Amino acid sequence: MILDGMPGRVEKNYPLHQLTTWKIGGPAEAVYWPNTTDDMLSVWKCAQEAKIPVWLIGKGSNLLVSDEGLPGITIVTTSLRAIQWGEYSVRVEAGYTLARLSQEAGERGWSGLEFARGIPGSVGGAIMMNAGAHGGEMAPHILSVTALCADGEIKKFERSELEFAYRFCSLRGYAWVLEAQLAFSAGNREKILIEMRENLIKRAANQPLEDPNAGSVFRNPPGDSAGRLIEAAGWKGKTFGGAQVSNKHANFIVNTGKAKSTDVLALVDAIQRDIQMKFGITLQTEVEYLVPNS
Ligand SMILES: Cc1cc2nc3c(=O)[nH]c(=O)nc-3n(C[C@H](O)[C@H](O)[C@H](O)COP(=O)(O)OP(=O)(O)OC[C@H]3O[C@@H](n4cnc5c(N)ncnc54)[C@H](O)[C@@H]3O)c2cc1C
Repeated sequence: MILDGMPGRVEKNYPLHQLTTWKIGGPAEAVYWPNTTDDMLSVWKCAQEAKIPVWLIGKGSNLLVSDEGLPGITIVTTSLRAIQWGEYSVRVEAGYTLARLSQEAGERGWSGLEFARGIPGSVGGAIMMNAGAHGGEMAPHILSVTALCADGEIKKFERSELEFAYRFCSLRGYAWVLEAQLAFSAGNREKILIEMRENLIKRAANQPLEDPNAGSVFRNPPGDSAGRLIEAAGWKGKTFGGAQVSNKHANFIVNTGKAKSTDVLALVDAIQRDIQMKFGITLQTEVEYLVPNS
């Protein structure tokens, strides 16, 4: 087996619900936590040659994983945490916790990632999703991204070579982020820390952080809010199996204990059809669905 003897943690037949914030997902045939980007590259190359499927997970905070689990190798980036601080810049590996990076920059009095303090993803996942909140997003703070591309090459992309839009990065489906360089500007340390604390308080008030969830399930349609539409259509509190539309925020679906991916999918599908009927708007999902053969 490809993973035998590889440095880094390896688990066989591992429950993927333990790796997602929704706490949903069947068993992975094998899970690998590489310690270095070189180890990740070696495993990816061997898997390609052996025609074994590979999947990539960061902090699992934007993912719905199938109840069937995933064949092949699921690579988790959370041990890729090297970080080098520069002059109002940082070079950071993909598995670093975004919220931690935001806090650490804020403590230096460096401004830029205040918006990210409450986003529970990894740096790599946040770049891929162009994660954003409170009027900010990743894109303007990116200087360069080093990524493993589908052709097996490792390439460094300058910001000008990449396209970003609402929850979109042009590397998506084509490359894996290995590390990135981000830029900050000089700020007032106290102001930055207060802004981050206030953002966390707003989140705790508006989001069902007490129950397993994956953040916003649907993307906001142009000029509107998915949460507003879903609430207006009367979905708050509605359940399917163990999945429930949050009573706190209608664009969140929470796992009430034993939700399956099929429960979430059934709710998603019913909401999409209802919103289409009532408002003529097609809601697109923001969360990613990992299912065998996808
Ligand atoms: C309570 C809560 C609040 C949230 N609030 C926000 C918010 O305010 N704004 C926001 O934008 N999002 C929010 N999210 C969603 C989520 O945290 C972000 O989308 C985050 O950026 C996902 O990062 P991740 O590491 O968890 O990615 P994962 O969920 O692990 O993966 C998501 C996708 O990115 C891919 N991916 C992961 N790492 C890499 C990599 N290194 N290279 C290439 N692809 C990769 C995966 O394959 C998958 O397709 C929230 C989620 C929760 C649970």
